[in-house]
Amino acid sequence: MHYSIAIDGPAGAGKSTIAKRIASELGFIYVDTGAMYRAMALYFLRKGIDGHDTQAIEAECPGIKVSLAYDEEGKQQVILNGENVTPYIRTEEVGNMASVTAAIPAVRAALLDLQRGMAETSDILMDGRDIGTHVLPGAFLKIYLTASPQVRARRRYLELTEKGETCDLSQIEHDIIERDRQDMNREIAPLKQAEDALLVDSSDMSIEEVADAVIAEFHNRKQ
Ligand code: C5P
Repeated sequence: MHYSIAIDGPAGAGKSTIAKRIASELGFIYVDTGAMYRAMALYFLRKGIDGHDTQAIEAECPGIKVSLAYDEEGKQQVILNGENVTPYIRTEEVGNMASVTAAIPAVRAALLDLQRGMAETSDILMDGRDIGTHVLPGAFLKIYLTASPQVRARRRYLELTEKGETCDLSQIEHDIIERDRQDMNREIAPLKQAEDALLVDSSDMSIEEVADAVIAEFHNRKQ
């Protein structure tokens, strides 16, 4: 049997930084499912498709193949129809498009089997919005990681400016609130805390504190 840890929560709660740390500490494979939705969004953007044009998006889905690979440092790479698109998916434009198109059932269906299949073959730490509620409802440990919109906006702002991107803090906060609204209110697999998930509010916690708390909980349950 393989262990699986699900970490869900809103944009900018620190999921990926914390998840990477925990996965490396426990020797688990880290799967960032947001990157898969971003790869699909990039495909639609490149084709000039309107994110709200459900029909056009459904028609494109059979021609899109997303897969994951890991480089020599163990970092996840997202492959879109044979092209490594990892460097192109971390923009606000792609993130916003991902949030809009992730509400379309055909988009979610295209990624579900891949996500579930990975958990069958390895110890896995998967982060996203619907991992504990839909993708891996039987996960060994589920965490719902959140933080206030202001704290999340500030973190994303620092992340982007560190990469040399120019951005506006109030615009980012606006985008985050809009992204929460879309993710929490969509009909299919909305973002919500699974009943058996542990709620962690990281507003006043460091990355290390959150990671240590999750690792301690994992060992506790394993006993
Ligand atoms: O986590 P990240 O910001 O990379 O995710 C981008 C978007 O992909 C989210 O806003 C969400 O709409 C969508 N997503 C999802 N289900 C997941 C992961 C991401 O709907 N499991």
